[in-house]
Amino acid sequence: MQYSLPPDKLQRAVDYAHAGYALHFGSELLSIAILAAIIVTGLGAKFRDWAEAASKRRFIQAMIFIPLLLIFNDLLYLPANIYGQHLELKFDQSIQTWPSWLWDWTKTELIALVCAIPLAFLLYAVIRRSPRRWWLHFWLATLPVIAAVMYLEPMIIEPMFYRFQPLAEQHPVLVDQLEALVGRAGLSIPRDRMFEMKASEKVNSLNAYVSGFGGSRRVVVWDTTLDKLTTPETLFVFGHEMGHYVLNHIRNSLLLLALALLALFWAGSHIVRRLVPDVSDWTSLPVLLLIVAIASAIAEPVVNSYSRWQEHQADLYALEITHGTVPTAAAAHSFQVMGEIGLDEPNPNPFIVFWLYSHPSTSSRFDLAQRYRQPD
Ligand SMILES: [Zn+2]
Repeated sequence: MQYSLPPDKLQRAVDYAHAGYALHFGSELLSIAILAAIIVTGLGAKFRDWAEAASKRRFIQAMIFIPLLLIFNDLLYLPANIYGQHLELKFDQSIQTWPSWLWDWTKTELIALVCAIPLAFLLYAVIRRSPRRWWLHFWLATLPVIAAVMYLEPMIIEPMFYRFQPLAEQHPVLVDQLEALVGRAGLSIPRDRMFEMKASEKVNSLNAYVSGFGGSRRVVVWDTTLDKLTTPETLFVFGHEMGHYVLNHIRNSLLLLALALLALFWAGSHIVRRLVPDVSDWTSLPVLLLIVAIASAIAEPVVNSYSRWQEHQADLYALEITHGTVPTAAAAHSFQVMGEIGLDEPNPNPFIVFWLYSHPSTSSRFDLAQRYRQPD
């Protein structure tokens, strides 16, 4: 047995995947082109002039310059977002109405502004005070900010887009079984750390995830998953998320992100110094963002390879922890169901897997589940 799709779904999966790859690389080029255009046309300088004409105070300037730059940039990028949502609708991944989608986009913009204005103000305050070593000082300043955002995200940001409720509210029997599974591992994930997300209001796809860390760490299962998987299959999916939880994948990713940012800020500070005459001027921001955009496009396969490795660890953990509780056929079948609904290509191009896949391919995960034997 292997992961496979019926012929009609197979063609749709291939079409969906190809459109997605084009969208992905097209969006990357688009975001680079927009920033380059803002720099080359002098629009960034114009925004800076308006901000400086309005006030001598730097924070007021940030409150004008940042929204102008961010909103202009994101409006030009909006067609890519719209095309992405169009694909989600066309391939039955999303059922969200356009007004609801646009409202989510608007909320995302507002959250970005609330975060970006103080961060940019801080960045330029640090650059002015320490023109040569700002990369180090700004990095130190961003660490608690990143930690705070990751901590608060599940409590503040996620509920702005989806409704959550304790998993035990509508699925007390399942939670009993999950607790037994958790107990088997000699661990404890308290009931109040298990949530159900009402994803079915917007999407068809299945998922579960772990978010937050420390006091906000939690396991979230989408209601679509609970609806479409059998109980043993759900236990297996939960086992995978438990793997992320107990193997501290979020904390580890956070530590690596911090290291990557240090390297990025250091390299960025050296590059930007050669490109702009006065780094402390607001117009250096689109240049810095351009450097970040190019660096993240290059770092993509590294980030995704690391992610695939973590996902593989979580799969192994799930197979271990559910051994004897969930038949391996059920584990494999959960990938079949998720793959069919998510229209996962059975034979993705290896380069695409290497470059873009955050998870191992559904075929290889199905295969792993089926081959897996607990060592005696
Ligand atoms: Zn995972």
